[in-house]
Amino acid sequence: MEIEPAEEVKEPPRIHRLDEPVVNRIAAGEVIQRPVSAVKELVENSLDASSTSISVLVKDGGLKLIQVSDDGHGIRYEDLPILCERHTTSKLSKYEDLQSIKSMGFRGEALASMTYVGHVTVTTITRGQLHGYRVSYRDGVMENEPKACAAVKGTQIVIENLFYNMIARRKTLQNSADDYTKIVDLLSRFAIHHIDVSFSCRKHGAARADVHSVATPSRLNAIRSVYGLLVAQNLIKIEASDHDPSSSVFEMDGFISNSNYVAKKTTMVLFINDRLVECTALKRALEVVYVATLPKASKPFIYMSITLPPEHVDVNVHPTKREVSLLNQEVIVEKMQSVVESVLRNSNESRTFQEQTVEATPSVPSVTNNDLHLSPSPSGSKSQRVPVNKIVRTDSSDPAGRMHAYLYKNPQKYLGRDSSLTTVRSSVRQRRNLKETADLTSIQELINDIDSKCHSDLLDIVRQSTYVGMADDVFALLQHNTHLYLANVVNLSNPDAEHNFNENHKLAAA
Ligand code: ADP
Ligand code: MG
Repeated sequence: MEIEPAEEVKEPPRIHRLDEPVVNRIAAGEVIQRPVSAVKELVENSLDASSTSISVLVKDGGLKLIQVSDDGHGIRYEDLPILCERHTTSKLSKYEDLQSIKSMGFRGEALASMTYVGHVTVTTITRGQLHGYRVSYRDGVMENEPKACAAVKGTQIVIENLFYNMIARRKTLQNSADDYTKIVDLLSRFAIHHIDVSFSCRKHGAARADVHSVATPSRLNAIRSVYGLLVAQNLIKIEASDHDPSSSVFEMDGFISNSNYVAKKTTMVLFINDRLVECTALKRALEVVYVATLPKASKPFIYMSITLPPEHVDVNVHPTKREVSLLNQEVIVEKMQSVVESVLRNSNESRTFQEQTVEATPSVPSVTNNDLHLSPSPSGSKSQRVPVNKIVRTDSSDPAGRMHAYLYKNPQKYLGRDSSLTTVRSSVRQRRNLKETADLTSIQELINDIDSKCHSDLLDIVRQSTYVGMADDVFALLQHNTHLYLANVVNLSNPDAEHNFNENHKLAAA
């Protein structure tokens, strides 16, 4: 008979108090989750300091260096000893202040956290001072007395070797995609909301800034300079407000993309009471509207700024403050949904096509049959052999030129194109009135003959199509039902070619 071994009796483990540096480092890892969270905190501090210009410099995705310089009010000399201690702030005194807080920061944790996971150096000067001060911090305390130094207006904060003491985090970040793109994205978002502030963001060693915005009174200008013309020209302004305390109280304004905008990913830039936040419920709700309203499967671009009474917003729900909780959130989401839906429906009903001016582009060599498999050589660089299926349009500002690479040109056919415009018109006019002008039976017979040979589907396509625009000097884009066609308009203009009208219309389903 086997005897069961007596079960080991486990004593409850002892509870002990963690050392303060451990507590601080754990908390810091939560506030500064990755380099981009440090940049967000620093830029928000600069905005809170009433800066009009903020520049960010990043090295190695922020792991080696993050430098944020502003021209704000600076930090007093007397405050420097406690600047990087946990829970030291100039923005909040008592808990109730949270109800009406306007500043981005209030937790007094950001700078402290940075000193627990990186090396922080602050250079600052306040108004009326002859010189500034520079001081470095480690684990919440000053490493040395502040040193007098030359300084320009405002504050510069440098974080070096972020996560030097958090091996696992550093490794994950080194392996994951560079945070620099996230930092550029963050600065782009700030730049289109705080349009009275100039922003710049540059990679260390790069000559050009990746975000470069100048203060402007026009939001659309700011969006154009940050996200580009293709986004800005496809936006519709939206505005809404509600002042009914029984349902919701808010004011909203923004821009949303129209039916011509094409993107694979949604860009949702949301500010609630001037805080850059995320709201998945609202984002999903608006994406649903786009899918339901627009025929094209494009994801939207949305910039939305919502203002609510401060007491309706709980700002203290996330350590990085990236989320807020709203009173009547569901009602507000529904209202935004219906505003966006009605604006989109109206814009979809009156869709317009932009006319393109096609100009000869001498920088792009004309392509003959022999070199159809080569890409046009980029101006000033060595020509590379690129298969035609790999050719991409690289220059959006040159919509006409790059398409030449795909098309075969017959130079004789489009010589004297301008003068042939009148011929096109008169031939079209003639064709319309063929039956009336055909007095002679022989002509009538010829017409009947042509009509009988005519491909009825093709004729329907040409008759019922909508002119979209010129693809290049020779081909016009026509839309018929859900198809897009390229039509050779030069052949059309040639009266000799009219008898074989059907063949000469190189209609290609795109
Ligand atoms: P919080 O922003 O929550 O107050 P922080 O740790 O981010 O906490 O900053 C602590 C304090 O340091 C701020 O309250 C502010 O007074 C001061 N400070 C930080 N950055 C700047 C800056 N760029 N310009 C002026 N003052 C700053
Ligand atoms: Mg702060």
